[in-house]
This record gives sequence, C-alpha cells and structure tokens, in this order.
Amino acid sequence: MAKDDFLVIHEIYASIQGESTFAGLPCTFVRTTGCNLRCTWCDTTQAFYGGTRTSRAEVLARALATGTKLVELTGGEPLLQPGTLPLMRELADAGRTVLIETSGEADVSDVDVRVHKIMDLKAPGSGESHRNRWSNLNHITERDEIKFVLASREDFEWMRAVIRERELTARTPKLLASTVFGKLAARQLVEWVVADALPVRVQLQMHKYIWAPEQQGV
Ligand code: SF4
Repeated sequence: MAKDDFLVIHEIYASIQGESTFAGLPCTFVRTTGCNLRCTWCDTTQAFYGGTRTSRAEVLARALATGTKLVELTGGEPLLQPGTLPLMRELADAGRTVLIETSGEADVSDVDVRVHKIMDLKAPGSGESHRNRWSNLNHITERDEIKFVLASREDFEWMRAVIRERELTARTPKLLASTVFGKLAARQLVEWVVADALPVRVQLQMHKYIWAPEQQGV
C-alpha cells in the first residue's frame, strides 16, 4: 500500500458548514487525526491523537454517501497526510465542491486548483503566530478564504496590519474574522471592524450557538 492510499481519520459526518462564506450550507466533514500546532484556544484537541487508519477508497465512499454537495476536509491538519491531496482530487472529480481548512503552517502549493482553501493566519494570541508560512499567500486566489481567529485587541491590530502590509485584498476578497469563543465578544470585534472600515467578514462559529459550545461531531 502506498502511503497516500490511506488516511488516519477522526470522524466523518454530515452537518452544516459553520465558518466560511459557505456557512449554513449542508456539508460533509472529513476530520483527519493529528496536528503539528498547539493553538492556545484550539477546540478540536480531541483530534490530536488516535483515529482510525482507513483506506482512501473507503473515505471517499463515505464522504460521497451522505449526498451533500459540499465536502470539507478538516482536522487537526489535513495536509499532514499525503492521502489528502488525491482524496480532494477524487472528490472534485465526483462533482463535489471541496473545502479544506488548513492552519497556515502547512504547505498548500500542491492543493488542486478546484479546491477552496480556507486558510488560517495565526494571530499572536494563538501562540503559533511564528509558524505562519507566508509563502502560502502566493497560492491564495479569489476562490480561497483567509481566516483570522482573534482573542484580543492585540490580535485585532495584528490582523489589521497584516491585511494592509501584505495587501491581502489583492489576493482574495474573502477575509474572515472571528473571535475565540468566551474570550473576545463578537460585539466588540464588530465595533473595531466598523471603526476601521476593515474589509473583513465578521463571523460566528455557528455550531457553538446551535449546539452546546463543547459538543463534538456537529
Ligand atoms: S491548527 Fe487547528 S487543529 Fe491545530 S492546534 Fe491550531 S486550531 Fe487546533
């Protein structure tokens, strides 16, 4: 078996997409196991370890079986596993709209051009800001989305500087800003965004309002 013939999977389930311009749409999530970052506010620490070694063919079949038009690879960090790249190609070949949530540290240069990348840029409050792989910005196009998760005013000012200095709006109009649940009030973020007329889409982590904030598999 080649190393990209299988993936280590935490869970596969259908729900609604909660954190992007696709928010609110039915979506099947393929959550891979393992991450090489340790964001202070990570809400998927359960996916750091364990998982089930699963053939790529089975992952594909299970992701297609739900029937949703959207399929999202998430984690953990999906790009740590070599099977992710061919899986995304196969999902796109099958007519699915494919999303990948990725940390901003993993190299996105080989991701199929049909895939919508939702890429984090880690603000200082994450503790992982030094891991941002800035060369990834060269592979961000209008189809992709850049996401900031903010825990404080310092994080907000960092985001504001990055948007301006790295001219992010020239790469994609889809800049997303959300808050760390329980750390920074969404209302506060809205005030700051409006005061600076920042070109970001403020978003809530929808599933934390629909279900209990700590609920998994939703
Ligand atoms: S990159 Fe994502 S999965 Fe990894 S520690 Fe940070 S928030 Fe958690």
